[in-house]
Amino acid sequence: MGSPLEEPTAWRNWAGNETAQAVRLARPRTAEEASAVVIAAVRDGRRVRAVGAGHAMNAIGRPDDGGVQVALDRCADLVALDGGSGLVTVRGGMTLRRLNRLLAEAGLALTNQGHGEQATIAGAIATGTHGTGARYGSLSTQVRALEVVLADGKVVTCSRGNAPSCSPPPASASASSAS
Ligand SMILES: Cc1cc2nc3c(=O)[nH]c(=O)nc-3n(C[C@H](O)[C@H](O)[C@H](O)COP(=O)(O)OP(=O)(O)OC[C@H]3O[C@@H](n4cnc5c(N)ncnc54)[C@H](O)[C@@H]3O)c2cc1C
Repeated sequence: MGSPLEEPTAWRNWAGNETAQAVRLARPRTAEEASAVVIAAVRDGRRVRAVGAGHAMNAIGRPDDGGVQVALDRCADLVALDGGSGLVTVRGGMTLRRLNRLLAEAGLALTNQGHGEQATIAGAIATGTHGTGARYGSLSTQVRALEVVLADGKVVTCSRGNAPSCSPPPASASASSAS
């Protein structure tokens, strides 16, 4: 099942200092749909850029004009929560705000985080988003495993004990990930 591209539209980041024109948005519901989006974009010679809440204030989140933007707002649910171990599995499009609410209901909390609660988990992990406190790591240091869609469309799971090798991306693709 694919994820149809929406009509080309303009994009701007939260701060408004980065913009793009005629971006085609894909909103996959699964990693497999995200994979299909990447494969189709490569076939059509379009560059792919994953996007979260657009809170990055520089050009790292800016899609190419005419490119494909993959948003994970439909991949934003809680998958599993183990109150005993504190291990929580969520999908990459979930915002920090929603995660914090879910954790609080279970008597859990992140060790540390940044200020912007609208950021997505995936965006915060991708950029090394951090809070204050010299003894705390960035949000990404709290991650145990990731499911990632590679630039060739392969879906892999990475963790400390399992780092699958990544084949070099095709020239027209940049990496995108889900959950
Ligand atoms: C009001 C505000 C407060 C902030 N406070 C802090 C702070 O206290 N500490 C701090 O460190 N930073 C802070 N930031 C920066 C912000 O946390 C980061 O820019 C973070 O990346 C934003 O997440 P996002 O979901 O908006 O990602 P985006 O800005 O949408 O994307 C950022 C990058 O992540 C990539 N990305 C997004 N989603 C995915 C995905 N699913 N798979 C792969 N790559 C993906 C994008 O391609 C892009 O390269 C703040 C920003 C704002 C606007």
